[in-house]
Amino acid sequence: MSDQHTQSLLSEIEQATDDLIELTQALVRIPTLNPPGEYYRDICEFLDQRLKKSGFTTEFIRASGAPGDSDQYPRWNIIARHEGKASGDCVHFNSHTDVVEVGNHWTVDPFGAELIDGRIFGRGTCDMKGGLAASIIAAEAFIRMYPEYGGAIEISGTADEESGGYGGVAYLAERGYFSSDRVQHVIIPEPLNKDRICLGHRGVWWAEIETHGRIAHGSMPFLGDCAVRHMGAVINEMESSLFPALKLKRTAMPVVPEGAKQSTLNINSLHGGQDQPQEDYTGLPSPCVPDSCKMIIDRRFLMEESLPEVKSEITGLLDKVKANRTDFSYEITDLFEVQPTMTKQDAPVSVAVTDAIKEVLGKSPDYVVSPGTYDQKHIDRIGRMKNCIAYGPGILDLAHQPDEYVSVDDMVDSAKVMALSLVQLLSVA
Ligand SMILES: [Zn+2]
Repeated sequence: MSDQHTQSLLSEIEQATDDLIELTQALVRIPTLNPPGEYYRDICEFLDQRLKKSGFTTEFIRASGAPGDSDQYPRWNIIARHEGKASGDCVHFNSHTDVVEVGNHWTVDPFGAELIDGRIFGRGTCDMKGGLAASIIAAEAFIRMYPEYGGAIEISGTADEESGGYGGVAYLAERGYFSSDRVQHVIIPEPLNKDRICLGHRGVWWAEIETHGRIAHGSMPFLGDCAVRHMGAVINEMESSLFPALKLKRTAMPVVPEGAKQSTLNINSLHGGQDQPQEDYTGLPSPCVPDSCKMIIDRRFLMEESLPEVKSEITGLLDKVKANRTDFSYEITDLFEVQPTMTKQDAPVSVAVTDAIKEVLGKSPDYVVSPGTYDQKHIDRIGRMKNCIAYGPGILDLAHQPDEYVSVDDMVDSAKVMALSLVQLLSVA
């Protein structure tokens, strides 16, 4: 790949370092907190102005009626498209514009985007405004160097990834924005480290389990039936049979970190009896036997498992408890499910980014699969697009943490990788 042209493309990006820093800072200073989903319109307008100057045409799409969308907090998305001079594939960079709550223990202004020793600090620097900025710099440099290229480049800024993506990528995928006649390659610049390619993620099943009891006076619990004790029996059964069984289910997917290479289950919440008193309430609860206990489970599953299997594992466990325990009854309600997804390592977008990483960093990338999901799920399931990976600057572990940062060198390197990937995927003379 190394010719004079690509060398000048790389130095073009190096010369744009100050621009990359300022662009990242400007994006971080728009506090697009989700929830509730603030300043989506503002960040779309900012991107609109920036990308129009570079020859993109833009479209604003509000996810009307999506969860969270309201006149106070409209779910705005932007898709910008640059047409080449000839026909060819379209490469789409998708970044979410929302950031999670700030939390405590910050030592810098979370929306100040201060540059300290080669790092930009702030909420959303790493997850993922640094990646968004890198993709813009990469695309602009590519367009300057190869004005006659064939194909198209799209850059989207989408809402609500942190809350499931229904007001963002899911909404767009449902409306055909990721259909195969429009987009052929998707790169999501999530912070996966600049030398790794993320091929996909594990599956998710959330459900609520409720055990039933009968209310009675707390001084005579034998006259009632305690739903919390029934749930205790469920937890015992999980400890003795389920957790050991999950540990033995190993995947061939390259999931990181190592601990997530197995099936996992998190007991997300557990509540039985009266509601927790308000913080400012100083009285005592009244003495009652709880007649209901609810548990929310978060089960992450592997390519090697099917969702019906995963569900029947839990209903089987509950039926076993029921068989051994008088007056045990339960209800189970599905809350949320996502299929696992993994793009092939030899998919065209993955091959292009691999070669670009070798060229820029002088090493082969690691291929990883994410323990949790991100917007690839919608592109895969709704958009039916299999040629999609996540690749971007930033250290995954810093996401959602206090003093989140992205390093400028990492952004420059990954912008180079993205630009060289464009050279591979689009037709250049
Ligand atoms: Zn993210």
